[in-house]
Order: sequence, then C-alpha cells, then structure tokens
Amino acid sequence: MARYTGPVCKLCRREGVKLFLKGDKCMMKCTLERRNTRPGQHGSGRSRKPSGYALQLREKQKVRRTYGLLERQFRKHFDTAARKTGRTSENLLQILEMRLDNLVYRLGFGDSRAQARQLVNHGHFAVNGRKTDIASFIAKPNDVISVRERSKGLEYFKTRSLMLAQKGVPAWLRLDIADMSGRVMSLPSRSELELPFEEQMVVEYYQR
Ligand code: SF4
Repeated sequence: MARYTGPVCKLCRREGVKLFLKGDKCMMKCTLERRNTRPGQHGSGRSRKPSGYALQLREKQKVRRTYGLLERQFRKHFDTAARKTGRTSENLLQILEMRLDNLVYRLGFGDSRAQARQLVNHGHFAVNGRKTDIASFIAKPNDVISVRERSKGLEYFKTRSLMLAQKGVPAWLRLDIADMSGRVMSLPSRSELELPFEEQMVVEYYQR
C-alpha cells in the first residue's frame, strides 16, 4: 500500500497544528514550536483570508494526514462512512479509528501510526487469533488484536511490554499486557477522541 514518505513535520507546518505524526517523540521536541510557518519560499508571508473551500480542504488534509493515508484510501473510507446510517463525520472517524494500524498504535504497541503500520505489515499481529498483515483491516467491537506468539520473543516486544504499563489506553479499548493483546470494547464516540479537527468540514468538502 502506497504511503507518504516525505518529512512529516512539514505536514504539521502546512496545517499549522501539531498532528503528532511522530507519536510520542512529538511530546519531547516539536519542530512546529520552533518554526510555525508554512513550508516553502513564501511560507512566512502574509496569507489572504481563506475561502470556505480552502478551510474545508485544510480540515480534510488534517484528518487524512493524521491517519497517514493517501487521498484514494481516505476517499474510500469516506464513501463507506457516507453509505452507513448515522452521521457521516462520526462514521468516518470510527472507521479510521478501527483500522488495524490505528488500533495497534492506540494500544501502545507502536509509538506512532506509521510505526504501527510497519509492525502490522511485517506480520506481527493477529486479529481473533488469525494472522492479519493488512493495515487497513477494519476491526469491530469484541475483536481481539494480539501480538503473534512467534513475535512475542522479539526484543522489541519484550521491551514494549515493560513500557505498556506506563501508557494508558482509551476507555473503548482494553489492554492485557501479560497476553500482549487488546480488545475493542466499543466504537469510540466523538467525545472520547481528542482530535484537533472539525470532521464535519470533511463532509462539506466532499459533498460540495
Ligand atoms: Fe513534527 Fe510531531 Fe511536531 Fe508534527 S507534532 S511538527 S510531527 S514533532
């Protein structure tokens, strides 16, 4: 699956907000705190008042970049969200949160979504006991995401299990450190997700 491989801090600078694309590392040292200008030659110049379309586009880009997706895949998730009953904006966030790479990140097995995706791609995880190496796999409530038996002995996961105790997981997930697994307890509600964007504008962007 194609993915963005350029400098990630540049993406935060473009959006003007911390998107935490490097995960935990962003807590220690953040480029945006030192240099909050848009990338490029005219980045520090004065910008015109953005149009409604420009605001919607920027919100859409923030969401897409937070989850590390290219446009095609993001649009696919949006279309699925739009087909479901209920609010499209909330459906979209739930779909994005239920992606396997995101769940691996939320459970603390990876420091960032990008790292979590790599761990999934390398076949270290199983869903309900079955090896699953597709980062875009969409889990559902009651699914159990676990580190595969053969991967538990790796130095990375041994160190990780010691770190997991200090990390919290969202209320809609349950982590079992001894078993190196986590269960999806429910779909997250919007209030349970601390995300820096207005997802309703994503809907407006695609439905304009
Ligand atoms: Fe870079 Fe993280 Fe700061 Fe974004 S939040 S600019 S990815 S350090």
